[in-house]
Amino acid sequence: VAVEVVPETGSTNADLLARAARLTEPMLLVAEHQSAGRGRAGRSWLSSSENSLTFSLAWKFEGGLQTLSGLPLAVGVALGDALGRLGVQIQLKWPNDVLKDGDKLAGILIETQSASRDSGGGTWAVIGIGLNLVMPDEVEALLGRSAAGAPWLARMDRDVLMAALLDALAEALRLFASRGFAAFSARWNLRHAWQGRPVVILDNGKVLQEGLAAGVDDAGRLLLDTAQGRTSVLAGDVSLRLS
Ligand code: ATP
Repeated sequence: VAVEVVPETGSTNADLLARAARLTEPMLLVAEHQSAGRGRAGRSWLSSSENSLTFSLAWKFEGGLQTLSGLPLAVGVALGDALGRLGVQIQLKWPNDVLKDGDKLAGILIETQSASRDSGGGTWAVIGIGLNLVMPDEVEALLGRSAAGAPWLARMDRDVLMAALLDALAEALRLFASRGFAAFSARWNLRHAWQGRPVVILDNGKVLQEGLAAGVDDAGRLLLDTAQGRTSVLAGDVSLRLS
């Protein structure tokens, strides 16, 4: 994995997406400060250099986009394992959030680009991660909701922390490439934040479905126990809320 650390950029995901066509090996881009971090569907990720870790990892997969379903969840499992080894216990919220004590500790954003035919085809996945180390009150006020930090990690050497996360991610991405999300679903379910809780699936604020959250299947779909029986929900741009 090629590694580059920059003092400041708008979005590490945007930078790596722009470079993906020319990459010949996986690449990690770490920004000491990220000024325009992105979330899903045009949402934003707030961070400050002292208080957070922001980076993206570009990784090439052999198959097309459809083979990557479940990847954000597998990345959540990898982060959970790595953070657990560092003494920080997290839970996962479907599809792409990492929670600590019920609040968001880290966000995962995956954007993709097809690799050119001359480079052998396949798909580049750019996996962006923002991890809160400390969460200042001012930032929570800006967000309009509470968020989590991991002060213990804030005291760790940043490079050591980054190396531990990169190791866990690389191992998980290799496993995902060979076995898909099925190799992660049981571990995802062990960390499921809202198991058995009543939830609603929202699409642009509109309630699409409601039921009890029952974990994920081997494709990464959320299982919902509804009045009509069990259904599964594919992660598009829907959001999940407790009801
Ligand atoms: P939601 O968490 O609302 O269901 P989502 O998972 O789609 O939505 P993302 O797009 O993954 O959200 O992340 C962007 C959202 O995360 C922002 O809209 C904001 O509410 C929240 N957010 C932004 N920065 C931070 C941060 N540093 N810590 C915690 N939460 C943040």
